Amino acid sequence: MTEPVLEFLGDMKLELGAAGDPDANWRTGRNADDILWLALDKKDTGTNTISEDVIRELNAHIATAEKDMPKALVIRSAKQSGFAAGADIGSFDAMSDEGATDLLQQGHDVLDRIEALPCPTICVVHGAALGAGFELALACDYRIAVDGASFAFPEVQLGLHPGLGGTFRLPALIDPTEAMTMMLTGKTAYTKRAKSLGIVDVIVEERHVAAAVQAAADRKIDEHEQGLKARALGFEQARSLVARQMRSQTEKKAPKEHYPAPYALIDLWEEYGGNRDDMQRGEIESFAELIKTDTSKNLRRVFFLRQKLKDAARGDDDIDHVHVIGAGAMGTEIAAMAAIKGKRVTLGDVQTDPLGRGIKQAAQICLDKHLSRTETRDALDRLMPDPHGYGIAQADLIIEAAPEKIDLKEKIFAGLKGKMKKGAILASNTSSLSVDDLMSHAPAKTRFAGLHFFNPVSQIDLVEIVKGAGTNAKTMDCLAAFCGAIGKLPAKVGDYPGFVVNRALTPYLMEAMVLMDEGVPKEVIDTAALRFGMPMGPVTLADQVGLDIGLHVAESLRDNLDKPMAEISQTLCGKVEAGNLGKKSGKGFYDWSDGTPHPDADMDNAPEDLTDRLILPMLNACVEVLRCEVAKDDDQVDGAMIFATGWAPFRGGPMHYARSRGVDDIVSRLKELKQAYGPRFTPDEGWQSLG
Ligand code: NAD
Repeated sequence: MTEPVLEFLGDMKLELGAAGDPDANWRTGRNADDILWLALDKKDTGTNTISEDVIRELNAHIATAEKDMPKALVIRSAKQSGFAAGADIGSFDAMSDEGATDLLQQGHDVLDRIEALPCPTICVVHGAALGAGFELALACDYRIAVDGASFAFPEVQLGLHPGLGGTFRLPALIDPTEAMTMMLTGKTAYTKRAKSLGIVDVIVEERHVAAAVQAAADRKIDEHEQGLKARALGFEQARSLVARQMRSQTEKKAPKEHYPAPYALIDLWEEYGGNRDDMQRGEIESFAELIKTDTSKNLRRVFFLRQKLKDAARGDDDIDHVHVIGAGAMGTEIAAMAAIKGKRVTLGDVQTDPLGRGIKQAAQICLDKHLSRTETRDALDRLMPDPHGYGIAQADLIIEAAPEKIDLKEKIFAGLKGKMKKGAILASNTSSLSVDDLMSHAPAKTRFAGLHFFNPVSQIDLVEIVKGAGTNAKTMDCLAAFCGAIGKLPAKVGDYPGFVVNRALTPYLMEAMVLMDEGVPKEVIDTAALRFGMPMGPVTLADQVGLDIGLHVAESLRDNLDKPMAEISQTLCGKVEAGNLGKKSGKGFYDWSDGTPHPDADMDNAPEDLTDRLILPMLNACVEVLRCEVAKDDDQVDGAMIFATGWAPFRGGPMHYARSRGVDDIVSRLKELKQAYGPRFTPDEGWQSLG
């Protein structure tokens, strides 16, 4: 069990449960001023969730309080890790099968009872209050935030909206449009923002919590009052107007047929926003419907895929010092992320300009990640430009991120021989070279592997850890733990052309080029992919990745794979030759001078096969990497594709999609496409073992 954080309570002892029940999840106690404390300390875990037993026990504690009313009630977390991470998502499957209404009603009843207590009710939040945790906080009269606290409703990422009163309590507390925005986007309100929105009444340091609680217990803290706008939105006509805008904003990000939850929330608010009881009834009904949808089931799957990859990243990485070779697009961001997460980092390059740019870029990443001034200063202090490579001898891990040329990488590795610290690991960020080929030049084969980050490193969570023939298990585990330590999701994969992600993604990009060469407009191709649920179309993606890089990966796959592939498009080669490399040069297939393109083509004349021609080659490659044991299982492939490329999350990943659609159907479609367009659509033999 984690250490409680309630030292400031001094002599007051918080018992587990009413009678010291070791299975209890709440610590309780009344202090000398008759303030009742309920501290959530969920059993057998480091993170609080609001599960059924937590709610049941809370109900019992509130019933006791009702009989012997305290001067005030305080709810907080006894865990170092924060307030509460939301509902227990593990229980949602059972809820969706058995009907969620009764369970939700129980939760609502308890929160209503808290709200109805005549004594002041105070929630103290440190760390994150997410979902149901936030809803529990909202049922209290006051919210005291310990500096660093944050609040969010991430339910929308699970295909849901808040289900424990958030849909009416938050709009009743703060500007309703801000409340709706938080629920529709899942965005976090950090402490200061939470205060300015009116979610939080006071912000204090931990050592001042007791005094703030006392002030709230004496009702000496002013409660937040809503403004005029909230009153105006009490009228249905005003809400309808705003709801219309919300729908059109949401449509741009999350089409209704793929993501029903935000629309259900807007409907709810538009219809019942003026009446708390109707809203409560509507929220329960709507949540109970949403939890049964395929979208929610698949998004919950994505949540667990993330957990699974995270689990593989646990453990101590024993890496204090990282040296990064090459301060280009990748090296800079890798170095910045490692420094932000507490590693000492030296960043080397043969030129000095990239080093200067790299430090500036690192400062920008700190800003983008909402780091405080102190955190930014500390991160930048840990990141040292190192043009002479002094860090090589001290580093526990060296990450090579020099240009993708084998002879250059070989030369760099040769220069490391005899200079690296004993036991240090060398990893290459190569995206298309064979790890085994590189390994033959590495100072120590057992301590060499691929460490394939994706661009931009600060935004893409996945990292492929590529095992070469000589890489030992300790190195793989250490690199996985390192990825975890810097906030990334590792996928341990085998050495194979394109590894997993580029192997699967490249046929999709190449087919888009073939389609363009056939005369299909790029906007039509991209719109087809967007409608399937991809975060961007393949042509936009190719431009974003860089056409030179895409071409290089395609050539490398063609040269190294014993598989029929699409011809490399001459238009693509021409663009690369002309220096029109995509986003980075301002022009590729699209003109990027006005920002990211948002194609939305009329699809009336789109070729019938279009979506299958784009998607099925990807699925075929996923099956191939499984057959060749490059990836471990379906979950790993799905996680890798979702967290590296944003692959239609509401479909649960490519393998999940393939199985849901039906293996037989996909194989017969591939055969038809092969007949029509050529051998690149030949079904992989791995499908046979999936059927
Ligand atoms: P880049 O061209 O942006 O940067 C490479 C940097 O390495 C340059 O600053 C260059 O000055 C420096 N350099 C050249 N020779 C060096 C040497 N001998 N010692 C130290 N530094 C040297 O390249 P990038 O896009 O960051 O790619 C780096 C690696 O990452 C490549 O292996 C590439 O395949 C891989 N990668 C790139 C991407 C991407 O999208 N850019 C994605 C994944 C992986």
